[in-house]
Amino acid sequence: MPIAKNLTEIKSQLPAHVTLVAVSKTKPVADLMEAYHAGQRIFGENYVQELVEKHEALPKDIQWHFIGHLQSRKVKQLAPFVSLIHGVDSFKLLQEINKQAANNNRIIDCLLQIHIADEETKFGLDEEELNDIVTSDDIKILENIRIVGLMGMATFTENQNQIEKEFNHLKTIFDKLRTQNSELKTLSMGMSGDFPLAISCGSTMVRIGSSIFGSR
Ligand SMILES: *Cc1c(COP(=O)(O)O)cnc(C)c1O
Repeated sequence: MPIAKNLTEIKSQLPAHVTLVAVSKTKPVADLMEAYHAGQRIFGENYVQELVEKHEALPKDIQWHFIGHLQSRKVKQLAPFVSLIHGVDSFKLLQEINKQAANNNRIIDCLLQIHIADEETKFGLDEEELNDIVTSDDIKILENIRIVGLMGMATFTENQNQIEKEFNHLKTIFDKLRTQNSELKTLSMGMSGDFPLAISCGSTMVRIGSSIFGSR
């Protein structure tokens, strides 16, 4: 299987400041091990149960990112070990992550998901909802979470201009927010089909699945 070769090929296209999340959802642990042996240590998963099982089965120096849509009632299962939660889109979810992180004596890093696509089906906050969350007094008491950046997904389209516009929109929101909070370092945008464009628009973290592991 060409997983190691695919990884080398992709990494050769990533500037040093861009982190690669290998998106391994639906793929068997043997495939993840192949990526692991090729040096990959950050994996992204969309489903809580699958992530928990893979965490149990695989080496403990892997950093697990949750990149799917997280339901509050499932946070508890991830809280002991998850290293970054990408898709946080409500204050209520932040509160639950904070609570479960505290129960585990941890601080959990989170990205707030911004809705940049043209599709209703994608999750995320608009700019006003984002500002409400980051400027609220309530957030200051959540000592067991750390908001480290933003995440977004572009519209599923062939139209490169539209994708570029959406990525630039997210970058603008990110830069504005950074003037208020210098702790924000991560801008998670870009997948197999659009990561070079995302990087040129300012991405610092790409989430790549099918170009590494093959189609799902
Ligand atoms: C599946 C998924 C990816 C990876 O998609 P590919 O097109 O396979 O690279 C990235 N981000 C999210 C949120 C995903 O659900």
